[in-house]
Amino acid sequence: MAASGFDGVERRGLMFVLSSPSGAGKTTLSRMLLEREPGLKMSVSATTRLPRPGEVDGRDYFFVDKAKFEGMVEQGELLEWATVFDNLYGTPRAPVEAALSAGRDVLFDIDWQGTQQLHQKASADVVRVFILPPSAADLEKRLHTRAQDSDEVIRGRMSRASHELSHWAEYDFIVVNQTVDDAFAEVQSILKAERLKRERRTGLTEFVRRLQRQLEK
Ligand code: 5GP
Repeated sequence: MAASGFDGVERRGLMFVLSSPSGAGKTTLSRMLLEREPGLKMSVSATTRLPRPGEVDGRDYFFVDKAKFEGMVEQGELLEWATVFDNLYGTPRAPVEAALSAGRDVLFDIDWQGTQQLHQKASADVVRVFILPPSAADLEKRLHTRAQDSDEVIRGRMSRASHELSHWAEYDFIVVNQTVDDAFAEVQSILKAERLKRERRTGLTEFVRRLQRQLEK
């Protein structure tokens, strides 16, 4: 799980998890991170939910039927999976393992159930960030502006939001999304700091030894 880091010191990739109730701005923040952080790759989940307008199979999700999803679970192809809003969602294992071993960081847009499972399996590699909306009214406004779901689905998402919020304490970092630019700066700082953690910098011993050899010449 090592590859050359941005400053020449080898490091392991990390799993960067962003969770929030739907509508708290997580999708926008994920997109901004992917645009500005070339070392970061999105984990594309499999789901049994139907595509929303504009969503592309293989880019936003792998849209599969229930039988296919259950087959993936049986074959151990998913790193984690959960039922969310009556649909199944799960993270394909192979692309994540390939990215981490190539020294790339992986971004996850998954719920608290998936985050718990990832953390149980690989706590040292997981960084958990929870995004809070500044208010309930803001969350509702964003769900309506998105205009991708029916009123009934939006009502369901609002009532589920309160339950999802209760998991905030299971995360390492909490970001309140008051303005997207500030929230993005905060999320990006977390990623940058986590990349510098000593434990992930597998090439440090070698790097420092080289410095010492040069100093002692
Ligand atoms: P949506 O249907 O709005 O795209 O996603 C609904 C919820 O499912 C979001 O909270 C999202 O984070 C979560 N989710 C998406 N993919 C996965 C996954 O692979 N695993 C888990 N546990 N949750 C997921």
